[in-house]
Amino acid sequence: MSKVASLEDRFVGCLLGLAVGDALGAFFEGQSTDYMTRHYRSAADLINNPPPGELWYTDDTQMAIGVARTLSVCGAIEEKYLCRQFASNYDPNRGYGGGARAVIEAMRHGHDHKYLAADYFPGGSFGNGAAMRVAPVGLLFRDDHDGVWEQARLSALPTHVHPLGIEGAQIVALAVAMASSVDQLDRGVFFENLASRCASLEYSGPLGRARRLEHVRDLGLFGNGIEATASAVTAIAAFGLTPDSYEETIGNAILLGGDTDTIAAMAGAISGAYLGVRAIPSHLLGKLEDRHQGRTYIEQLAKNLYEKYVQTAE
Ligand SMILES: [Mg+2]
Repeated sequence: MSKVASLEDRFVGCLLGLAVGDALGAFFEGQSTDYMTRHYRSAADLINNPPPGELWYTDDTQMAIGVARTLSVCGAIEEKYLCRQFASNYDPNRGYGGGARAVIEAMRHGHDHKYLAADYFPGGSFGNGAAMRVAPVGLLFRDDHDGVWEQARLSALPTHVHPLGIEGAQIVALAVAMASSVDQLDRGVFFENLASRCASLEYSGPLGRARRLEHVRDLGLFGNGIEATASAVTAIAAFGLTPDSYEETIGNAILLGGDTDTIAAMAGAISGAYLGVRAIPSHLLGKLEDRHQGRTYIEQLAKNLYEKYVQTAE
């Protein structure tokens, strides 16, 4: 399927793939793996029988919108602009974690958010809050892996200064960059490129194991938690297991339970970047909220980012 997706379709697929994964996953956030497997026989069962009503995205998509807007306006991460985006988009009902909430509320009131980002957790947060929003960086810098790595770091810093929080964002961004660049995924090359960039064994080790992952029953070994080390590789591994199916990728991620919205958001962004927007089931896309900064807005934002990429590349 990836062979027919245009690059613009991949940009749109990435951002809408992120939003749909986030919004479908949000229904199940915090459920146990046991609960999920008792209620759904398979990823297909979950995808074909989504909860009734609209799909509402959470903080993951809201912050990714801030990153995408910053890139489409500035052409790179400008920290002050990014922080203003986070602050002005902020809706406390979107499921922000306590640390992010404190940092963004400080931004909104003009207080020193950097002090909070470093001290809310000792040494800074190593949660997955930077990884969940980073996908647009992978799209815009897809031809420049050094640029992906550095821009992902800059996009993390307003809230995540711990090296593991930053590196989680870097590997997700690089996964998006590579997924958006190839017509036929070579799993060996994909995982080797990711693992070889990592400074931390916490990532390079699991990425090496993810390369050899063969059975969905082993996906849970990579974790389903809110720490970047317990979720970023999980999302990448879910994509690597079923690269030709968006629904299998996010369905398997959600069936793990735990931090379902974020793991499915990251996995959905990578899968959408590879397969393009037509890989996202239309019944799910049709359920995605479409009022303020909803489906139509996100699609347009992806197209703006694509135009920015084309300008940058020329
Ligand atoms: Mg969330």
